[in-house]
Amino acid sequence: MAVIVQKYGGTSVANLERIQNVARRVIKTKEDGNDVVVVLSAMAGETDRLVQMASSASGGTPDEREYDVLVSSGEQVSISLFSIVLKHMGYRAISLLGHQVKIHTSEIHSNARILKVDTELIYDELKKGRIVVIAGFQGVDKEGNITTLGRGGSDTSAVAIAASLKADYCEIFTDVDGVYTTDPNLYSKARKIKKISYDEMLSLAGAGAKVLHHRSVELAKTYGVPVYVKSSFSEDSGTLVTKEDKDMEREVVSGVAYDRDQAKITVAHVPDKPGVAARLFTPLSDHDINVDMIIQNASSEGYTDLTFTVSKKSIEKARKLLDTVAKEIGASLIDYDENISKISIVGVGMQTQSGVASKMFAALANEGINIQMISTSEIKISAVIEAKYTELAVRVLHDTFGLDQENGNNY
Ligand code: ADP
Ligand code: ASP
Ligand code: MG
Repeated sequence: MAVIVQKYGGTSVANLERIQNVARRVIKTKEDGNDVVVVLSAMAGETDRLVQMASSASGGTPDEREYDVLVSSGEQVSISLFSIVLKHMGYRAISLLGHQVKIHTSEIHSNARILKVDTELIYDELKKGRIVVIAGFQGVDKEGNITTLGRGGSDTSAVAIAASLKADYCEIFTDVDGVYTTDPNLYSKARKIKKISYDEMLSLAGAGAKVLHHRSVELAKTYGVPVYVKSSFSEDSGTLVTKEDKDMEREVVSGVAYDRDQAKITVAHVPDKPGVAARLFTPLSDHDINVDMIIQNASSEGYTDLTFTVSKKSIEKARKLLDTVAKEIGASLIDYDENISKISIVGVGMQTQSGVASKMFAALANEGINIQMISTSEIKISAVIEAKYTELAVRVLHDTFGLDQENGNNY
């Protein structure tokens, strides 16, 4: 008997009718002779609503512990409703919250990492013939506090549960029928990728392709969990995310991603001497603020400028910390710019191919799009541009690298 973990996103459980449809799918998998664990997100729009309420109630800086108690509640509604539906349809089911399963996480509220998932209760319930329905996005820290995993984190719950149960595979059901060469809702020429390596998917997700939560791909890779991305509205076989193999498309560029969630911070007139960068960045990392791209300008008369990006949601926290540290180190001016986005191209074939970056930059330049920052890794090139050019940049890069056609971007 196979153990299968199925995760359904917010749009898939947006209303009672959709919940009933999803329930039928789950029942079919169960009837086929499998043990089924279902992981659910909150109903569409619910987490946004709760986040907004927390913000309004606190002038934008809610208490972190209570924030997690509040925003995790959306999943309690969806799993209980879903289990009610399954039972009404004549099937045995049980809903479980993160702290009931015991999904152990770190203590970082709103951005916790899963450390371990206890499997005992899940196995007990499966043995009783029940469909186990678990709340995504949430866990519990060692003090017993409820934590959440960051927006989109239900994917990570599902993969972590699949890894712990040694499930045969994990299916992520969403509102598109697979992973595409770029966001199909942004560009209609996007092409579905049948099979993609963990590494490429990791780069795409890290660059903002929200079809999978970044951390879920990390876990899938570490534990070798096969992940299928499928639509809950069709029977399409979707995309398989798995180890790199020889029949995978080995494109130079296989996808374009964008991230509108970044903000750019420039600290000007920073004394150019050892230890200063550490003093600037240590308070940020101590407060779990993730710094993404960093550039340091050439030094002039013993001073330099440092520009870096953080996520928009951490800008307020960063502002407070940087005001203090800038004074301490004698930096003069801090500029914040939220009007940016990050565009990335990803592909394993890039490692052995020269000229990819210059082709990307030329394509952006042809459209008059100015590049503010650049960063590269072995299989990814990212550029920060003005936010209003996001869509145009995605389309132009998709066309430039011929991503609408299989094997389209050979040089
Ligand atoms: P869910 O609520 O099911 O978790 P999400 O909204 O988090 O769904 O993720 C699905 C969305 O991801 C799609 O609707 C699509 O707009 C977006 N997306 C971004 N990049 C890609 C990509 N490369 N392939 C497929 N979808 C993508
Ligand atoms: N409900 C959470 C969110 O909207 C988690 C998820 O959907 O994955 O971010
Ligand atoms: Mg999601």
